[in-house]
Amino acid sequence: MELLKQRIRKDGKIKEGNILKVDSFLNHQLDINLFEAIGMEFKRRFEGEEITKILTIEASGIAIACIVARYFNVPVVFAKKTQTKNIAGDVYTSKVESFTHGKVYDIIVSKEFLKSEDKILIIDDFLANGKALLGLGQLVKDAGATLVGAGIVIEKGFQVGGEIIRESGIRLESLAIIDEMSVEDGIKFRD
Ligand code: 5GP
Repeated sequence: MELLKQRIRKDGKIKEGNILKVDSFLNHQLDINLFEAIGMEFKRRFEGEEITKILTIEASGIAIACIVARYFNVPVVFAKKTQTKNIAGDVYTSKVESFTHGKVYDIIVSKEFLKSEDKILIIDDFLANGKALLGLGQLVKDAGATLVGAGIVIEKGFQVGGEIIRESGIRLESLAIIDEMSVEDGIKFRD
């Protein structure tokens, strides 16, 4: 998605530890016009697929998922992050290792909001090592729902997540894939 790539080039900030900061338009201040274009692009890519719900993870996935959901006219469910040791009751849960914070946390979704008849599109801002996406995929599986695919705004193609997800057979659509990134040479996108 050219518009997105241009914006990443212009406003993305490369930080230590292979972190790309996009706080001025995607993760902190939100450029809603860009979000609209992102929503439209995911709609185009998943055109013709039956989707009943968008699933994402708090916090930064939520805003994007909401705009995408407008295009599919379906609800958004977001997995909550929790550090509670014993999670019991009417929730699906899985573990996710955070790339940015290095911690392992549980994610939960109420069983009320994920049903076996659901056809799920997962949306998230970044794909790095794939842990968040795999954790969300596990919730979908546990619910007996169908995973239609995953839509990622920025895939860091030099990390293992993309390969793991594609090899697992999940349909993955990333709007911008970064193949190389360094302070000295800037950002190189995959065509
Ligand atoms: P993964 O689970 O694929 O290793 O990492 C994906 C999650 O980590 C995303 O939900 C995102 O919030 C965060 N993340 C990974 N890499 C980056 C990055 O370079 N920049 C930002 N802002 N978040 C990232």
